[in-house]
Amino acid sequence: MAEGNNKRNIKASKELKCAVAKKCGGCDYINSSYNKHVKEKLAIANSLIKKYGKFDGIVSMSNPYHYRNKVSAVFGFENKKIIAGTYEKNTHRVVDTKNCLIEDKKASAIIQTIKKMCISFKIKAYDEDSGFGFLRHVLIRVGKKSGQIMVVLVTSNVIFQNKNAFIKVLRGEHPEITTIVQNINNKNTSMVLGDREIVMYGKGYITDELCGLTFKISPKSFYQVNRDQTEKLYSQAIEYAGLQGDEVLLDAYSGIGTIGLIASKCVKEVISVELNKDSHKDAITNAKINNIKNVKFYNADATAFINDLAAAGEKIDVVILDPPRTGSTDEFIAAVGRLKPKKVVYVSCNPETLARDLEVFKKHRYRFEKGMVVDCFCHTRHVEGVVLLSKLDSKNHISVELPMNDMDLTSAESKATY
Ligand code: SAH
Repeated sequence: MAEGNNKRNIKASKELKCAVAKKCGGCDYINSSYNKHVKEKLAIANSLIKKYGKFDGIVSMSNPYHYRNKVSAVFGFENKKIIAGTYEKNTHRVVDTKNCLIEDKKASAIIQTIKKMCISFKIKAYDEDSGFGFLRHVLIRVGKKSGQIMVVLVTSNVIFQNKNAFIKVLRGEHPEITTIVQNINNKNTSMVLGDREIVMYGKGYITDELCGLTFKISPKSFYQVNRDQTEKLYSQAIEYAGLQGDEVLLDAYSGIGTIGLIASKCVKEVISVELNKDSHKDAITNAKINNIKNVKFYNADATAFINDLAAAGEKIDVVILDPPRTGSTDEFIAAVGRLKPKKVVYVSCNPETLARDLEVFKKHRYRFEKGMVVDCFCHTRHVEGVVLLSKLDSKNHISVELPMNDMDLTSAESKATY
């Protein structure tokens, strides 16, 4: 009986598209139908923001596999064998993820090669508990359009035995690799990357093309993981902004400058603010690479920066914000309220914090106009959402003594806001 069950289980797991989905925890939906689960993701996103508005739909991906251009594998061992993959959900046990269906295929193959090379080069995987071992993680970034590939070897110390031979063998097996970087992380931390980087081969970064522009991407800079869907996301965000050519646009949480640089040809000026130093530096280079001159970049906390803009009485016509999963801050949104841009386009990778922030925008007289979900993280529970908010003018502000539920305003009142 028990044996029968076991056989059935084995058969069932063979039929699954991904047999390690449960353990890995990355893809909640990988073993269900794509068309069905994108609808489910839209419904969940809509239920989270229903107090404020409704997403018009979800932009799905025609081939929702192997889209991830950033692949990070943690190295460990099991029965004295080297394994590489992700941490099992809520644990620090490594799940060997050989045939991941969402990661770029070349990146997965490179990780498998490095696993084999660890044996021939006698490289030990790092052990978090004892602090022994050398190789902690391998991070791979692929320029899906450019074809460039960066391999980052995260090691526990700087001394890389047989370094040149290692590079030669790795490049021999994968000539498509354009750069290799050693990153030293000697801290007891769950962060993948440490502070120090040594370029072992090539330029130390890759470039990729997005919405017709070229972007430099360094190991620690932010770049969306699904390039093709990102083009759709940014196009939607820029379309929502309805730019006429004479605006000053604030691109907040700007990463390597992508949205602002792409929108720059449609406005008078872009002001970009980003906290991460490496992303900020790449953004400046990206303006140069693309010969764009009307974007100013600031390396600062977005909230502190926008507070300064508001205090200085700067004129901002449109704000596009694209914060991390934790969302923006009440203070940032209050400063938007003081700057009074006509439109705000909120790009969000977390509908929960989006809903929280929409409540604050509502207090500052910004009303949900429309929104769209883009499936940038196919098969996982995550989505990107883009929402257009418009400023209710001060006249409305005084006359509308309605219970402050902006969503109940009639469309006539809504049009009066422009
Ligand atoms: N708009 C960019 C980046 C979005 S990701 C793109 O689409 O590529 C969010 C970005 O916010 C990251 O680059 C992160 O470094 C940055 N960030 C996080 N906290 C921040 C803060 N307090 N102030 C400014 N930028 C911040």
